[in-house]
Amino acid sequence: MKTITILGSTGSIGTQALEVVQKEGYRVTALAGGKNIDLLEKQARQFQPELVAVADPAAAKDLKLRLADTAVKVLPGEEGVCAAAEAPCDTVLNAVVGIAGLKPTLAAIQAGRQVALANKETLVTGGELVNRALAEKKMRLLPVDSEHSAIFQSLQGVPDGSLRKILLTASGGPFYGKKTAELTRVTAKEALTHPNWSMGAKITVDSATLMNKGLEVIEAVHLFHVSADQIEVLVHRQSILHSAVELSDGAVIAQLGTPDMRLPIAYALSYPARSGNAFERLSLTDIGSLTFEKPDTETFRCLPLCLEAIRRGGIAPAAVNGANEEAVALFLAGKIRFLQIAELVEKALFAAETVSTVTLPAILEADRQARRLVREAV
Ligand code: NDP
Repeated sequence: MKTITILGSTGSIGTQALEVVQKEGYRVTALAGGKNIDLLEKQARQFQPELVAVADPAAAKDLKLRLADTAVKVLPGEEGVCAAAEAPCDTVLNAVVGIAGLKPTLAAIQAGRQVALANKETLVTGGELVNRALAEKKMRLLPVDSEHSAIFQSLQGVPDGSLRKILLTASGGPFYGKKTAELTRVTAKEALTHPNWSMGAKITVDSATLMNKGLEVIEAVHLFHVSADQIEVLVHRQSILHSAVELSDGAVIAQLGTPDMRLPIAYALSYPARSGNAFERLSLTDIGSLTFEKPDTETFRCLPLCLEAIRRGGIAPAAVNGANEEAVALFLAGKIRFLQIAELVEKALFAAETVSTVTLPAILEADRQARRLVREAV
């Protein structure tokens, strides 16, 4: 029986992953979350993990009391989340949101655990570090993000050195077709209404700004060892073709499916086997037609800003990510306008210092400085 740890188990990916775990009959080794202990308690009682980690120390203390009648160990803080990542199991699914996912990913790799990665901010901020750690351990990541899972699936059986280009699809988000003047007054509620996917709040706003696609370009650079110039972003409104690869002979291979994250989650957890999931099947005749167009990078500035960040390299991606996390939180709290997110990301990108070696302290400092810059600018 496969044993699985889920970091970020109370979130959108985490709860869908637990559905897959239940359906496949996997055993849960550890769970971790930020502070939602009502749900963590429920999950702990249902899945009986060996340990549960809670990033918020006060919430961890509370959960420990609540679970006193069980054998479940409760660990507090970032250290607790990293300890959960290290606990012996077959696969650690990292579905934490934000840069908070970076240290647990590194901890899991260093402990020799197979990581299934949904937390894209891990690779955006620490891609070089993660790739170094993976090379030392002769390991690889299993992508969970639907686009990266599609690329990974499309590359199965493809000889090394044959990948020419990645076609990364984007839904275009809720504000597709709108111009800057129409975006001045959009609300958080409107930004949180995604046309095709049901996701956590931060990634939904990232989809509305196209920051999400920029983050995914950076993620793909590190996952598939390509340059940003080898990645073409295509707006594909139907979210059916999840991404594709173009090979040296001109063949294009894609993975298609309904917009349901349980499929890439199930694949990452069963890899290389295929599970027999009973989720809704794709009917191409029902879909009828698939459309593809270039993104509007004049209006949605976050995408070109991410491309600039990955071209600059070093800590620039960590700076744009930190600024974005902070700006999105302020936007969701009603403190800044939608268009300010891109303005603040741009400020942080141009303020980021160049470093000769990317280290964990340098990444965390770039994140701190970018967040400070955002807070001071508003
Ligand atoms: P959610 O906001 O729904 O969930 C985030 C999870 O992270 C929650 O369990 C939350 O706990 C936990 N968390 C927050 N802070 C910490 C912390 N410091 N330490 C440990 N856990 C923490 O996000 P999503 O599930 O939407 O996204 C998770 C990741 O997956 C993101 O990186 C996102 O970009 C990526 N992703 C998501 C997709 C989706 O469909 N949702 C698709 C592809 C990628 P709590 O609830 O207690 O705060």
